[in-house]
Amino acid sequence: MSARILVVDDVPANVKLLEARLSAEYFDVMTASNGTEALAICARAECDIILLDVMMPDMDGFEVCRRLKTDPATHHIPVVMVTALDSPADRNRGLEAGADDFLTKPVSDVVLIARVRSLTRLKMMTDELRMRAITSLEIGMQAPERTAIADSGKGGRILLVDDRPSSYERLAGLLAAEHTVDVEPNPTEALFHAAEGNYDLLIVSLDLNNFDGLRLCSQARSLERTRHVPILAIAEAENSTRLLRGLEIGVNDYLLRPIDKTELLARARTQIRRRRYTDHLRDSMQNSIEMAITDALTGLHNRRYMESHLATLAEQASTRGKPLALMILDIDYFKSINDNYGHDAGDDVLREFAVRVRKSIRGIDLACRYGGEEFVIVMPETDLHVAGMVAERLRRSIAGEPFAVHKGTKRIEVTISIGLTTLEQKGEAVADVLKRADTALYRAKHDGRNRVVSQAA
Ligand code: GH3
Ligand code: MG
Ligand code: MG
Repeated sequence: MSARILVVDDVPANVKLLEARLSAEYFDVMTASNGTEALAICARAECDIILLDVMMPDMDGFEVCRRLKTDPATHHIPVVMVTALDSPADRNRGLEAGADDFLTKPVSDVVLIARVRSLTRLKMMTDELRMRAITSLEIGMQAPERTAIADSGKGGRILLVDDRPSSYERLAGLLAAEHTVDVEPNPTEALFHAAEGNYDLLIVSLDLNNFDGLRLCSQARSLERTRHVPILAIAEAENSTRLLRGLEIGVNDYLLRPIDKTELLARARTQIRRRRYTDHLRDSMQNSIEMAITDALTGLHNRRYMESHLATLAEQASTRGKPLALMILDIDYFKSINDNYGHDAGDDVLREFAVRVRKSIRGIDLACRYGGEEFVIVMPETDLHVAGMVAERLRRSIAGEPFAVHKGTKRIEVTISIGLTTLEQKGEAVADVLKRADTALYRAKHDGRNRVVSQAA
């Protein structure tokens, strides 16, 4: 999918120029001639990246950027300031406003396309994460945008890879004003150091002695532990081929020496803020996945997860010729626990029951809450005899120790009945296994409860 780029400039000729270059690279280009128009387009979520002129009548680019970056609906859209001014003060005003990058007029073609491509990748990834995280927002988790907008980008953990003492001492000193900084002067140690350190940002010098800094950047990108850590490259002079190569392999941003203090701090903050935001999105995605497969009351897997996973386990068992045991557990006279002690006490019993179940089974066993007070445990590579012993041990662990309810002020005797069976050797349907276990459970209830009944396949 091609990214949609919004070009904002009050001078029609400038708009036309950028539009032509971007269209030639197959980007979809939209245009606006003032800030108000640009904000409206962004609010309708119609663009992926904004190239924003600084000097415009009415509302200047800094103000447009500031508004975009403080609005939860638009703050994740990358903003590139396009400016005729190239003083550190201007750059810093833009970075303070939250701009993601700068291009100086006249804009070099190569740099323009490289920057836009790298920001497109970032935007696509963020969109994907945002979309998946929406589920967790719908079930009431905190919106990551709010935290992201409030994040100053300070207090990060930075690893600086630079082998020249005069350089790293100065940079580390500057960064230490806002962050915790570790210096790694030995590039061969840097990757290991980065993977172990849980950093928010890697700053890598590309002018290392006898070592290609870009190689380090590319290794950091392919290693699981460092894949999502942003990289800020530092280069001696505008060597556009190397810097572009860097942006292609995943370097997020760069600075040229001599390094301006304010710009260094601003770029570091931008990267760290972005890193925290995507981490947050990733976490909430993880949470929503967990919620979708977990029973909220007991923390065990839910029925939906068990049913889909059981099919896989059954298939594995029959192709490998291994046994698979399954039991259904049902709490005896649970209704009367609710009736006599209240629904909250019933919930306490269910929670404590899950704790005892977890203690009695192995990591590879699958325990789930199947319904109200009914549970299923699936045990791979377990025959009927062994499963019978596990079931009996579980039954005793429930009946042998009363359950504390009402914050420990009351103790209740609880028992369970268990129906147990195994998978027939040659690819039996999962529903039939469950049915046989259920029949065994019914017999356990009928025979007086607080017992295990096995039913061979
Ligand atoms: P039996 O020994 O035959 O299994 O009797 P029972 O009372 O345990 O079985 P029955 O199926 O009649 O009742 C189950 C009760 O479990 C009814 C329902 O209100 C209660 N229940 C279901 N889910 C929950 C829950 O999440 N919390 C509480 N406290 N009770 C629940
Ligand atoms: Mg029951
Ligand atoms: Mg029941």
